[in-house]
Amino acid sequence: MADTPYSLNGPVRPNASARGSEGEQGACADDRHRDAETIAGLEAELAAQAALIARQDVSLAHSRKIFDRASVAARIGVWECSLPDERLTWTDVVYDLFDLPRGSVLDRGEIIKCYPAESRKALDSLRGRAIAERGGFSLDAEITTLAGHCRWIRITATVECEAGVPVRIFGMKQDITEEKILSEQMRYLAEFDTMTGLANRARFQTRLDHAEEGRPLGALLLIDLDGFKAVNDTFGHVVGDECLKAAAERLAGGCGEAELVARVGGDEFAVLLGPHLDRAAVSGMARRLIEAMARPLPVRGQSLRLGASVGIAFAETGQSYDLFAQADTALYAAKAAGRNTFRIFKPEGQSKGQSAAA
Ligand code: GH3
Ligand code: MG
Repeated sequence: MADTPYSLNGPVRPNASARGSEGEQGACADDRHRDAETIAGLEAELAAQAALIARQDVSLAHSRKIFDRASVAARIGVWECSLPDERLTWTDVVYDLFDLPRGSVLDRGEIIKCYPAESRKALDSLRGRAIAERGGFSLDAEITTLAGHCRWIRITATVECEAGVPVRIFGMKQDITEEKILSEQMRYLAEFDTMTGLANRARFQTRLDHAEEGRPLGALLLIDLDGFKAVNDTFGHVVGDECLKAAAERLAGGCGEAELVARVGGDEFAVLLGPHLDRAAVSGMARRLIEAMARPLPVRGQSLRLGASVGIAFAETGQSYDLFAQADTALYAAKAAGRNTFRIFKPEGQSKGQSAAA
């Protein structure tokens, strides 16, 4: 077959002499002109589209760069798991979260081992329900990475369906380790006394309030150190602080049966007991605590002698919101009786005064 001659504008038409007339030549020239115009138009359109695609490529690459940078800065990665074959796809940040080399082959069976039992159970349950209900979930889960680091991650997930059948589950994984540590610290500060490590006044008060909400208490012991100011005055506040720590430790050690031991003031402590202990047991505990606090406390090379007075209130003698005031009244009576002793609050009518010696 003979080759058809080509120009840049396409195949070359047969020359004029082959057509045989002037009119045909003119028509042919017009055709060529129109064809050339059409081709030029198409080429311009193609060039415009190519330019548009190039601009979109640049814009897409820019968006991608911003997304990648934001994703790295926020420690948020995107994950996807196809269903039912469970093939995983991760962005780089998720690889980093699990300390896996970026782009390495992912085996869901191996990765799931990074979740300790509790986290894995929660994940399995939420994931299973999300797939069954074609929904989603959010979970804060603990992981131990393949390099052995402990991290907390926030997982969000959405199930995607095709014709009503789940085909994919995907979402984000974010490193929330710092946030978790911070919230644990905040919770500790809100509930514990940083000096002694005992529960603080707020936690003690919360437990008292819960007694009104169906968690009954048996008794409250309020303990105030005797002659503590003299430690500060003689040895200074640093030794005073050490003394408070040592006293708190000794106190907590003698309250094995207590539900809560708290520092509720400078040198004042509270012991909350459940309803299982009778009066004799509670009095016995108070006596043992006083004996323990009377023994010398070794603090920074010093042997410090203190003492403790105890006020006791039993829950049956009033509402729990009265308990603190009642124990405080009994404590006041113990101090007035010469210290190093305890008193039990008795409601009016049961005794002449507000408290009676045990
Ligand atoms: P009493 O026998 O009547 O209980 O008297 P006290 O000497 O034990 O003193 P009191 O209970 O009246 O007062 C407690 C003192 O504890 C007052 C305050 O200067 C001191 N204090 C309170 N908080 C702290 C603390 O965090 N560190 C130290 N070092 N001292 C404290
Ligand atoms: Mg005191």
